[in-house]
Amino acid sequence: MFNEVVLCLGGNRGDREALLSRARVELDSHFEVLRFSSIYETSAWGGVAKGDFLNQVAVVMTERSPEEVLHLIQGIERDLGRKRDEHWGNRTMDIDILYFGDQVIDSGRLKIPHPFIAERRFVLAPLAEVCPDKEHPLMEKTSLELLSECGDASEVKRWR
Ligand code: ADP
Ligand code: MG
Repeated sequence: MFNEVVLCLGGNRGDREALLSRARVELDSHFEVLRFSSIYETSAWGGVAKGDFLNQVAVVMTERSPEEVLHLIQGIERDLGRKRDEHWGNRTMDIDILYFGDQVIDSGRLKIPHPFIAERRFVLAPLAEVCPDKEHPLMEKTSLELLSECGDASEVKRWR
C-alpha cells in the first residue's frame, strides 16, 4: 500500500543550498516525489542553533513503513555530514517526518504527526504551500488554518 508522506528538510551549516539540492536528489532516488515546496530562509528556532536555516517541505509516495522511512532519512542525514550532537542544534541536514498518511504513531523512536508542526512557522509556511488543505489527524485543522493561528513570531521568508 502506498502512503503519502510529508517530510521537512533543513540545515544551517555548510553550503545550505547545495546540501538541500543533494537531499532532493536522494529523496528522488528512494521515493516517488510528488512536490517540493519553495525554499525558505528561517531564523533558528528553539534557542540552541545559531545561523539561519534553509527549509523545504517534500511530499512523497512510498510503500515503505514509517520505521523504514526513518532509517532511510537518517542515512541521508549521515551522508550529508550530519553529526547527531545537539538536539535542536546546528546541523548540515535534518529531515523530519511531518505526516505519514493520516497515521498517528507514538513509539519511543517515532512520533507522527511530528509533535511541533503547529508551533513552527518554518514548517507551516512551506507545508501550507504544498499541502494547504491537508488536515492534521489529531488537531483536525488544515495546514492553512494552523499557519494562520500560529503564534511563532520567528522570521520565515521565501528564499527561492
Ligand atoms: P530534532 O529533529 O528534534 O532536532 P533529531 O533530528 O536529532 O532531533 O531527532 C531525534 C530523534 O527524533 C530521532 O532519533 C528519531 O528517532 C526521533 N523522531 C521521533 N519522531 C520523529 C519524526 N516524526 N521524524 C523524525 N525523527 C523523529
Ligand atoms: Mg530531526
